[in-house]
Amino acid sequence: MQKHFLILFAFCFLFVVENEAKVYYVAVAGNDSANSGAIKSPFATITYAQKMVEAGDTIYIRGGIYKMSENQIAHISRIWVYVHLLNKSGAPGKRINYWAYPDEHPVFDLENIKPINQRVFAFDITGSWIHLKGLEVIHTQVTIKSHTQSECFHNEGSNNIYEQLSMHDGQAIGFFLTKGSNNLILNCDAYRNWDYVSENGKGGNTDGFGCHPQPGGKGNVFRGCRAWFNSDDGYDCIRAYETVTFDHCWAFYNGYSTQFQDLGDGNGFKAGGWGLVKDRRVPDTIPMHFIQFCVAVKNRANGFYSNHQPGGSYWYNNSAYLNGTDFNMLNRTADFTADVQGYGHVLKNNLSFAPRTYQTEWIDTTKCTITNNTFSIPLKVSKSDFVSLNESQLSAPRKVDGSLPDITFMHLKKGSKLIDAGTDIGFQFTGKKPDLGAFEQ
Ligand code: CA
Ligand code: CA
Repeated sequence: MQKHFLILFAFCFLFVVENEAKVYYVAVAGNDSANSGAIKSPFATITYAQKMVEAGDTIYIRGGIYKMSENQIAHISRIWVYVHLLNKSGAPGKRINYWAYPDEHPVFDLENIKPINQRVFAFDITGSWIHLKGLEVIHTQVTIKSHTQSECFHNEGSNNIYEQLSMHDGQAIGFFLTKGSNNLILNCDAYRNWDYVSENGKGGNTDGFGCHPQPGGKGNVFRGCRAWFNSDDGYDCIRAYETVTFDHCWAFYNGYSTQFQDLGDGNGFKAGGWGLVKDRRVPDTIPMHFIQFCVAVKNRANGFYSNHQPGGSYWYNNSAYLNGTDFNMLNRTADFTADVQGYGHVLKNNLSFAPRTYQTEWIDTTKCTITNNTFSIPLKVSKSDFVSLNESQLSAPRKVDGSLPDITFMHLKKGSKLIDAGTDIGFQFTGKKPDLGAFEQ
């Protein structure tokens, strides 16, 4: 009897051990061939650590500079060089976690990855149910002189979380999605990225964040992200087959060098578009994107831009300031023969102040739903409506949990007529009605 009990006990124990999530460590001074992956015996590379993990496991990446070398490249396919290739999937409720060790900052420096005539992807993620958190990628390179792009994080999987990632001072796009659904890009920063090598060095491809999902790529959301001083656009979802949501994201100084030299397109949020000529790839149903509670400041061209999209999007509670044009709803006819005044857009509770040229342009007000915006009520907005217009607050350090910093920039001053001037569109608000712009008082 007792023996049977012991055997049963041993079985249970084995079962538990086998299902317990494992933890591995990667460190700058680690060693893939000699170490076990334990905290005191860390691996050197994520590429090696990935071989060990199963769904539900966590790889902690210790702080420090990971100066990547070309002999660490995980995979090469024709013109694409994948420094890391995360192709192992987790499972529902059991993501594989690639997390910065708590309170430490792992930085991946790609300065020395310069393959001739090839594109560099710092992290290519083809797996699903993966969670990356707290990683920084810097100095990503471009070597191709003709049309090209390098990328820091490239997503092709689904149900992934990209959190508190920082991509800066490189020549690559910060984050780029071409495939996959239900991915969340949360509290990430892309800044000072400029490809000065290809196509005459204007950096016309270097967006902070690009989201271009193929058919079926639904439910991709950007939340709490920031993009500034990227040489092309802050956020770009040209050729997106499915709806993309930008929620509580900030875009400023895009299309400029840090010396405010004119570079690429320079839109804060480029929501859609398919180019000027209809091709077989244009879907029958044009997706309507959501751009809500976002902030666009001093982007070279437009703050919020519809980019020849043959249809409208939802623009709710956004704040725009000092852009060329704050809200440019330029559309294309359904047959792609001409640019026309924007149609099908829904614009509510938006705030425009002091654009360099226009508050709005290219809007057919008879073919859009436009209510309770500063420009449609209309309300005269002045400096005295705001607690602060100090732009430097936008790039302040994030809070400990990675969320956007608490700022007073463009927050409404007590007594402003913009307070409670909005219409209820289903989001939380204080007072009698929603306020105008991105910040509820
Ligand atoms: Ca772009
Ligand atoms: Ca209110």
